[in-house]
Amino acid sequence: MQLEDGENDGKVARRGLVLVISSPSGAGKTTIARGLLASEPELSLSVSCTTRPKRPGEVEGRDYRFVSPERFAEMVEAGAFLEHAVVHDHRYGTPRGPVEAVLTAGQDVLLDIDWQGAKQVRQAVERDVVSVFVLPPSLAELERRLFARAADAESVIRRRLRNALVEIERWEDYDYVVVNRVAEAALAEVRAILQAERLRRRRQIGLRAFVGELLG
Ligand code: 5GP
Repeated sequence: MQLEDGENDGKVARRGLVLVISSPSGAGKTTIARGLLASEPELSLSVSCTTRPKRPGEVEGRDYRFVSPERFAEMVEAGAFLEHAVVHDHRYGTPRGPVEAVLTAGQDVLLDIDWQGAKQVRQAVERDVVSVFVLPPSLAELERRLFARAADAESVIRRRLRNALVEIERWEDYDYVVVNRVAEAALAEVRAILQAERLRRRRQIGLRAFVGELLG
């Protein structure tokens, strides 16, 4: 598009936001996260640190940064985490620096974290947090998905199912709740949430200047 002198390109500067997605494991959150990242160039993923062992197929630095319990403790001590929590007996944490850098650039960051982490992030980032809870359509379906994934031993899956009930009880903490019956539909719903939240008037900090220019 060619711009005439004095014409702007219609882009309005906005504040970035932290999109937090939580769900019990197996509810399909990871599929939603991947779909969002593939279609949203202004959204990036926060890569967490964890002390849990790497699963087959996982890539260091892409899925997680796999660190020793000692290293994790040092990072906590140094204030390197925006939030951290124990989930399924392992420690997980969101590195603070990358999240702050994305927000400063007026872009958005996706956090795939549990309810304990979501609570801490709401306190730390306040009004630029948008939280979405993803529910499975039924517990039977959740169990089916966990076994189908076959990424973990049966005892681990059993523990995850027990933890799922505790996680599901936190649904009321979240701004939005999506029931994941069909992955594409759930993805479209979360994308709609992101798009609407970006358009909130208070988040579009460039509006005053933009409207000023419009009116001349
Ligand atoms: P998984 O071990 O299956 O990758 O993740 C287990 C759970 O830990 C998931 O519910 C995931 O959302 C959560 N989780 C992953 N990274 C973080 C993190 O940095 N902080 C917190 N609080 N939870 C996390």
